[in-house]
Amino acid sequence: MMLQHCVTCRTAQFYPRPICATCGSGDLVEIEPVGTGTVDSFTIVHRAEKPYVLARVRLTEGPIVLTHLIDIPAPYCDQPVRLVPGSDPQVFTE
Ligand SMILES: [Zn+2]
Repeated sequence: MMLQHCVTCRTAQFYPRPICATCGSGDLVEIEPVGTGTVDSFTIVHRAEKPYVLARVRLTEGPIVLTHLIDIPAPYCDQPVRLVPGSDPQVFTE
């Protein structure tokens, strides 16, 4: 998972785009996220055979990613989470 960092306005964005969504600059570089963030919102899907947690996680760099939370029995908003290394697609845990 990589983020784009705008050299002009110094914001990060995810997913990749040809220009910065904040200022319109095309001066973008790829950066690797530190792998931490907080739960912005979540829902527990009970209709599946095994319930799972779908969540929006606000990365430390700023962008929000749609992801799954694993091994968190009682998630809550603003809970600190970290990226599971090597997960593809990316998932987060406590
Ligand atoms: Zn920008």
